[in-house]
Amino acid sequence: MKSSQMKVSDLGEKGIIERIIERSKLCSQSNMDLSNFATSIGDDSALTNITMDENSYLVSSTDMLIEHSHFPYGMTYFQMGYKAVVVNVSDLASMGADNIGFLLNIAIPKDTLLDDFDELICGVIKACDEYDIPLIGGDTNQAGEIIISGTAIGQVDKDKALMKYGFQTGDLVCISEELGLAALGFELLNLKKQLTNNLFENVDLEKKLKAAYEIDSSLCEMAIFKALKPEARYLEGHILRDHNTKDNRLTATDITDGLASEFYEIINSDKKFTYSSSENLNDNYKKGIRIYEDKLPVEEEYKEIADALGLDYLDLFLHVGEDFEFLFTINKELKNQLSDDMNFYIIGEIIEKNTLEIVLSNGDIKNISSEGYQHLK
Ligand code: ADP
Ligand code: MG
Repeated sequence: MKSSQMKVSDLGEKGIIERIIERSKLCSQSNMDLSNFATSIGDDSALTNITMDENSYLVSSTDMLIEHSHFPYGMTYFQMGYKAVVVNVSDLASMGADNIGFLLNIAIPKDTLLDDFDELICGVIKACDEYDIPLIGGDTNQAGEIIISGTAIGQVDKDKALMKYGFQTGDLVCISEELGLAALGFELLNLKKQLTNNLFENVDLEKKLKAAYEIDSSLCEMAIFKALKPEARYLEGHILRDHNTKDNRLTATDITDGLASEFYEIINSDKKFTYSSSENLNDNYKKGIRIYEDKLPVEEEYKEIADALGLDYLDLFLHVGEDFEFLFTINKELKNQLSDDMNFYIIGEIIEKNTLEIVLSNGDIKNISSEGYQHLK
């Protein structure tokens, strides 16, 4: 049988695991230091040398990706594998953790072509290289569609961990890079998918897509690329962590479900933290977020493209996620020091009332609703 026609079912589970081990040697170009590991993949569990240290936390996070909801139209097998690592590394990075190892649970349809599977594993390995996190184990199974659940393990100093809570009134609300690109990318990919699947001509959809590309084709391509191949803010996580001291309050989270939803999360997290450490549980919680439309880093062309697609650009910013950028807060004094080390945008501040609001360019103040993206809703 030609290897290009081989399916994963021709190898079976054990063969597939061997294949993963083989591919990870073939795809990897890293010179990662593996001296922490007493075993490589193959035994019942992975063994890792760790220094038991009362000053650090073991950090672990897991995230599941399911083909029909997390892999947009046009995503390659390589990109699926890559994304499975990125979403997990992003969670570790937003705690400020150093990476230790990655576990890969994967279920695939049995008629998946072996070439496609190889490509997916190569995506996993390339991302592991990129973020310096070795693949140390996992599990392999069969399902009707591709399901990948990664688990990332790391380590962070106890007094450096970047929590979601702990900000104070007057702290600056910041994001690590421009937002909204992935959201626009998903919209464009969705249009392309509809056009491809539509047997009848759909002049309207075609016109929209054409208009978007005519405004700024490279921005459209960048947006699609960001949706298909997200990256984790690993270095930024370390920079923020290094600045996190008792005097320099810093909190952080990664933006996966849209800015609005992350706002609700950090406020709720801070509320819980405040009440659990407060003697008076009936205290009125008085912290909120105010951001300014004028401070959002967004190009004119982005707004025009959103408009051409019949979308509100602020909706894309606030209510669609998957940027994997950081939302973080810093105290004001940290601003100059931090900007020497990394790029970021200050988009607002923590205010002394329990609301989430945006000051629009025309001066109107609007409440931000919580509707980020939620599964099972
Ligand atoms: P067990 O029956 O003990 O669960 P498996 O046969 O599932 O063992 O796995 C054998 C070895 O291969 C283990 O070290 C496991 O961590 C590794 N492994 C299995 N599937 C994967 C995968 N998808 N990615 C990386 N390692 C894997
Ligand atoms: Mg197993």
